[in-house]
Amino acid sequence: MIENIPNIRAGLQFGHEVAKQLGDVRLSACLMCRTCTAVCPITRLNDSFNPFRFVRLALFGYIEEVLESGLIWLCSNCYACQEKCPHGVRVTDLMTALKNLGIKTGHVPREVRLQMNIIKDHGRIYPIDEFDNKKREKLSLPSLPTSCEAVSTLFHENRE
Ligand code: SF4
Ligand code: SF4
Repeated sequence: MIENIPNIRAGLQFGHEVAKQLGDVRLSACLMCRTCTAVCPITRLNDSFNPFRFVRLALFGYIEEVLESGLIWLCSNCYACQEKCPHGVRVTDLMTALKNLGIKTGHVPREVRLQMNIIKDHGRIYPIDEFDNKKREKLSLPSLPTSCEAVSTLFHENRE
């Protein structure tokens, strides 16, 4: 719970440092109205996922806790929170920045890393092989390339 965050004074200093790393997502503009959480489709399915809480924890510098929870990876980047925020907090951009920080610091769930590696190797989440193309041919669908090497350059720095 946000109310249980200890040592808020110390956290605030760290929060400004982290905010610099996260970019200008306007964390300090948050009015605590909780609209972001009210409109989030993921919160409706899982009440442990709370965009407002991520905003507050990031503001106070509790990034490690956020990353370790693994919850950020549930965000679908639908932008509902960011579009509805009445004070211009870039909540979705925060979620993306947190995911990027998670990649950089190794806080990535195994499943996400597996998917990332599949995309790096095949250019898509579901690898296409000749068997798939034969099935497509039977349906009069054009064949698809079985590899997409250009995509691997997007992940070059993060490859394991
Ligand atoms: S909608 Fe915006 S102002 Fe309201 S709690 Fe969320 S981030 Fe803060
Ligand atoms: S972008 Fe993420 S946090 Fe924001 S409403 Fe969509 S799923 Fe929720």
